[in-house]
Amino acid sequence: MAVFDAILALVLPPIWGAVAGAILGVISASYVATLLRRWPRGQSASHGRSGCEGCGAPLRWFELLPIISFVIQRGRCRRCAQPIAADHLWMELAGLTIGAAIGWFWPMAQGLALLAGAMIAILLFALDARHQWLPHRLSWALAIWGLALGGWALAGVSAANFTDRLVGLVVGYASLTGIAITYRWWSGRDGLGGGDPPLFAAIGAIGGWQILPATLFLASVGGLAVAVLRLARARESNDDWRQMRLPLGSLLLLALPFAMRLAP
Ligand SMILES: [Zn+2]
Repeated sequence: MAVFDAILALVLPPIWGAVAGAILGVISASYVATLLRRWPRGQSASHGRSGCEGCGAPLRWFELLPIISFVIQRGRCRRCAQPIAADHLWMELAGLTIGAAIGWFWPMAQGLALLAGAMIAILLFALDARHQWLPHRLSWALAIWGLALGGWALAGVSAANFTDRLVGLVVGYASLTGIAITYRWWSGRDGLGGGDPPLFAAIGAIGGWQILPATLFLASVGGLAVAVLRLARARESNDDWRQMRLPLGSLLLLALPFAMRLAP
């Protein structure tokens, strides 16, 4: 692969890697956005043509172009004028940015692996932020990605070896399970979502056990900031702030890259 990448680097300067990465990023993010819209409703994203969420009409190929179709149609269905969910646009813009960055900085094979991992992480992030839902199998898929491919795809970023990652997976799962049990015993109610321990296991499998404390710390600081903002808003609207649930999974995923930078 190294020889192949060296030849590729001669033929294709990094800008073309970034362009290819951006295109792949947009296409995969477009699929991830469809999963984000359909999964929580129990619909399959792989069967049947994509249809308008308003009138149900099947979409033609030129209505399915990521970002472009949304902009040309000004975010509305061509038939019923119902607004198209902005999830599609945000997700595709995120895919564009992340894909371009990966394509610029990473060799092709590692870049493809990294893009796959990033897409699983983004779907988990969005599902938790929007629906407070972290599907276990998706977290475990990310954990397996971390164990199998993390050391190779993140070679320049993370110094964790396979043992560090395996320990990270076990400690990540055990620590959040322990916190959840302790909290339930102490307060008599659930403080953590059931999907958090597998996700923290996946984070340990990606960056090694070394990054777990920093990830949890940064996510907690972020959670505190979100809680203060929501509290201020709840005061105005008289919502019951005690019913608020923070998307800990989203915060953990957001903290992950920063924690990897901090890790020794
Ligand atoms: Zn429509």
